[in-house]
Amino acid sequence: MRPAILFPLFAEIRGLPGIGPRLEKLIAQVAGRRLVDLIFDLPVGVIDRSYRPKLIAAEAGRIATVTVNVLDHLPPYDKRQPYRVRCSDDTAAIELVFFHAKADYLNQILPKGSRRIISGRVERFNNRLQMPHPDYVVETDAEMPLHEPVYALTEGLPGKVVVKAIRGALEKVPAMPEWQDASFLKARSWPPFADAMRKAHAPAHEADLAATTPERLRLAYDELLANQLALILIREHMRAAKGRVLKGDGQLKAKALAALPFTLTDAQKQSLAEIEADMACPARMLRLLQGDVGSGKTVIAMMALLGAVEAGAQGALMAPTEILARQHIAALEPMAKAAGVRLALLTGRERGPARDATLEALAKGEIDILVGTHALFSEDVAFRDLGLAVVDEQHRFGVHQRMTLQGKGERLTDVLVMTATPIPRTLALTAYGDMDVSRLHGLPPGRKPVETRVLSAARLNDVVEHLRKAIAVGARAYWVCPLVAESEKIDLAAAEERAAELQKSLGPKVGLVHGQMKPAERDAAMAKFKTGELQVLVATTVIEVGVDVPEATIMVVEHAERFGLAQLHQLRGRVGRGAKKSSCLLVYQPPLGETAKARLKILRETDDGFVIAEEDLRLRGPGELLGTRQSGELEFRMADLAAHGELLAAARDDAKLILSRDPELNSPRGEALRVLLYLFGRDEAVRYLRTG
Ligand code: ADP
Ligand code: MG
Repeated sequence: MRPAILFPLFAEIRGLPGIGPRLEKLIAQVAGRRLVDLIFDLPVGVIDRSYRPKLIAAEAGRIATVTVNVLDHLPPYDKRQPYRVRCSDDTAAIELVFFHAKADYLNQILPKGSRRIISGRVERFNNRLQMPHPDYVVETDAEMPLHEPVYALTEGLPGKVVVKAIRGALEKVPAMPEWQDASFLKARSWPPFADAMRKAHAPAHEADLAATTPERLRLAYDELLANQLALILIREHMRAAKGRVLKGDGQLKAKALAALPFTLTDAQKQSLAEIEADMACPARMLRLLQGDVGSGKTVIAMMALLGAVEAGAQGALMAPTEILARQHIAALEPMAKAAGVRLALLTGRERGPARDATLEALAKGEIDILVGTHALFSEDVAFRDLGLAVVDEQHRFGVHQRMTLQGKGERLTDVLVMTATPIPRTLALTAYGDMDVSRLHGLPPGRKPVETRVLSAARLNDVVEHLRKAIAVGARAYWVCPLVAESEKIDLAAAEERAAELQKSLGPKVGLVHGQMKPAERDAAMAKFKTGELQVLVATTVIEVGVDVPEATIMVVEHAERFGLAQLHQLRGRVGRGAKKSSCLLVYQPPLGETAKARLKILRETDDGFVIAEEDLRLRGPGELLGTRQSGELEFRMADLAAHGELLAAARDDAKLILSRDPELNSPRGEALRVLLYLFGRDEAVRYLRTG
């Protein structure tokens, strides 16, 4: 139950003065329905009205606040002209200019002969002072804020309405019980929550908008602490749930390893040991295996799956796309064969009797390892005894799907998530704070770094010539077309056009794959590229998710400036997988913006995915990096991970310490922390407390 002290903040905004149904709807669309949603929307700017000149000295272009006498009204002769109100102070005159104004209203707020304070932008026109549409017209004894916050919340909302609504919401912020450690607050000179909130909404200067003001730091820390507490509580809840011991005798693994043309690297062995230790432990495994594209995660996944099979259970491997599921099964097959375990594939494409047969075999335990797409989640998919679920996310995030797959086990399934996005430490803590992390550094031996070149689109012809020579000697090349925007259709048109042009100049060995193709057609095109029947594969970013064609040695990315750093890194990882030297040509459309320039430079300088990820975070901000804008999973309202990354680590330690001392949050501070959890919408976590 939400604590009573929070009721006013969780009330609906319609109760605020001046908020009718129309405004309520608009505000709800951009912020939310409740008062908390408003107060969490911090100002992005400030209007300074403290400039109070005499009119004779008023500088044009500035926002000024002046006290004037209203001299007379000059209504327009025709509707297209503005209504003017002449005013003056004892030094000069000024005209207030109103378009589409109602005379009645103006006479009411600016009666002739009255004295008023006006505030707005001063302009000089034909050497006369004007103020078009003053922001404020108030009586001389009325209050007017000299500093006014500006909110990003606009979309059809007048700024003043937003300011007023938020001001109303701020009045409802109660004095909260202090959930932060008193000496910690004192050491940092951070104000109490309510003060911090009010102060953050009352900037006087640009500097007050910085992420590093004491009030913003405090609020960010509150949110991060709530986040970390919630993650730990959820994790502990999941672990406390009966896990199982999956301990194999190593026989199957040994057979599979013997069939490989290589031995595991030390990094791989290390990660595998961590996974095996988790599996052998009665608590359930929730582990994230992070490793760059091509770092050799698949083998590790297979070893873990074989461990589950050795222990008498079944395993599942889920890939984000069908192509990847097929690629995985192809990679696993030789190992499965050597070990004598039974593999099967289940994607959206398996239907009818074949699918029924697979499901039946699965239920009987005649299939040891099932590989597939999210089709694995279908309700009618039942394992005899699922012991380990491996989720290959590449660089998607799907906490929800992870949970569903875990539910498939009779007893709770161990879960290994693999991601090819090297996530900065700060983000791993938030996105995967409920998991343990294994990091796979470096690439397997024998891989050559990819030569990266950045060139202007003006040199596209050179690129085509380079391709011509390369394919003449049997090379394979990807050509990735611009990611234009939201529309898959537009991307597609661009890719089709490019494929046609390349076919004209390079011949029939140019093919096309894109996201809107039927999976069978796409696979067919990929297969032709693999065999060499096609040598140039024009693609929208579908290839980004991890197809493996070791023969491919050239990656051309058109409009490289439109891709994110991580995306470009992933694309580049498609080549350099074989023995031959590979190159990546990043073609940009000038002029190049500062951020794009910085991105391309980083790519030229390093191929370490973890370094790139840190830079990406710096350049882009966390939401975009994780692609969570849509899913809303990782949204912070107060914290900005690019600016508050340090705080996250502190919050993490803090949360651990708090829960080790007071696991059920029953102490007075614990009670206050429950308020914090509810305040930031972490209700789910509170439910896991025994006395929640
Ligand atoms: P990831 O899934 O991490 O992107 P993969 O598992 O597909 O990477 O591995 C990339 C390539 O490296 C594969 O062709 C794989 O067979 C090979 N590979 C994996 N481990 C090793 C190793 N220890 N030594 C040499 N090659 C390896
Ligand atoms: Mg892989």
